[in-house]
Amino acid sequence: MSDIIQLLPDHVANQIAAGEVVQRPASVVKELLENAIDADATAIKLIIKDSGKTLVQVIDNGKGMSPTDARLSFERHATSKIRSADDLFSLNTKGFRGEALASIAAIAHVELKSKQESEELGTLIAIEGSEIKTQEVTVTPTGTSIAVKHLFFNIPARRNFLKSNTVELRHIIDEFHRVALAHPTIAFAMYHNGSELFNLHESNYRQRVVHIFGTKTNEKLVPVEETTEVLKISGFVGKPQFAKKTKSEQFFFVNNRFIKSPYLNHAINAAFDGLVKDGNHPIYFLNLTVDPKSIDINIHPTKTEIKFDDEHTLYAILRSSVKHSLGQFNIAPVLDFDY
Ligand code: ADP
Ligand code: MG
Repeated sequence: MSDIIQLLPDHVANQIAAGEVVQRPASVVKELLENAIDADATAIKLIIKDSGKTLVQVIDNGKGMSPTDARLSFERHATSKIRSADDLFSLNTKGFRGEALASIAAIAHVELKSKQESEELGTLIAIEGSEIKTQEVTVTPTGTSIAVKHLFFNIPARRNFLKSNTVELRHIIDEFHRVALAHPTIAFAMYHNGSELFNLHESNYRQRVVHIFGTKTNEKLVPVEETTEVLKISGFVGKPQFAKKTKSEQFFFVNNRFIKSPYLNHAINAAFDGLVKDGNHPIYFLNLTVDPKSIDINIHPTKTEIKFDDEHTLYAILRSSVKHSLGQFNIAPVLDFDY
């Protein structure tokens, strides 16, 4: 008889987890932006080089971390956001798995600087492939800066799998848009290879949409507002004549989190039935607020898919309120499509 099972060392477990959480530079962008939001930042700066292949850095003015927490933040399953399994059903934060920083640090060179408001000095940690290289006292503003360099330095297969800079930048901009749209009251800036791509001031939702998608968007928007016992909807759909060949301007947010939902998308299409040409996709920017207890976000590590308790009811409410909004704007069905 011989025993052959062993527990994997932490750095190996982290590297495996990283395979799920971090697919490309845009995944790092998403995790770091979400952490900044969870830290109550009011201004967040994203700096990238070579489409994130060389550098992804997020600087926030949030609450920062103590030196001990800064160190712990790189441990797997280390989180300040939940304490028990029950908390999973009443989530108000983006994060809760305590996996992102541990995963990122397992497959990149990371430099973290953080300072809490009450402190004079902050802490700096350099970590490479899960190994802490330095931790020292440093002068840094209140908040946190995390720089992720040489992503996938120790996983050549992953690095080689990355797409062209254009494609990777596109993914990063998509994540940036999603997070910025979900949080119009936070200021966001983005720089790529030293040039400013976005500088979004604190604003309301309509302004944020227009700021990101261009001034022409303003005239396209039809407001959708609805409050029922189980669902609150707010946001905009685009007038039917502005439907697009692509789905690039279709956004659902549930409790301020971007999600993908073919099912709810279908509800929108149903509301637009007869108003848009086949093959065109209505644009929409819709925020849904539901009781956190009625959804399960923990079905996928990147949390873009969620499970609703009562999808059918949401579908019906969504469809009828979008229809109603279109109706109010006197957008009656048209039979020929000569706009
Ligand atoms: P999660 O977000 O799921 O808790 P992470 O690995 O992303 O897990 O982060 C671990 C912990 O590190 C967080 O729970 C938080 O306490 C801390 N942390 C991470 N990023 C920041 C930040 N920008 N500002 C303040 N604290 C942070
Ligand atoms: Mg996180």
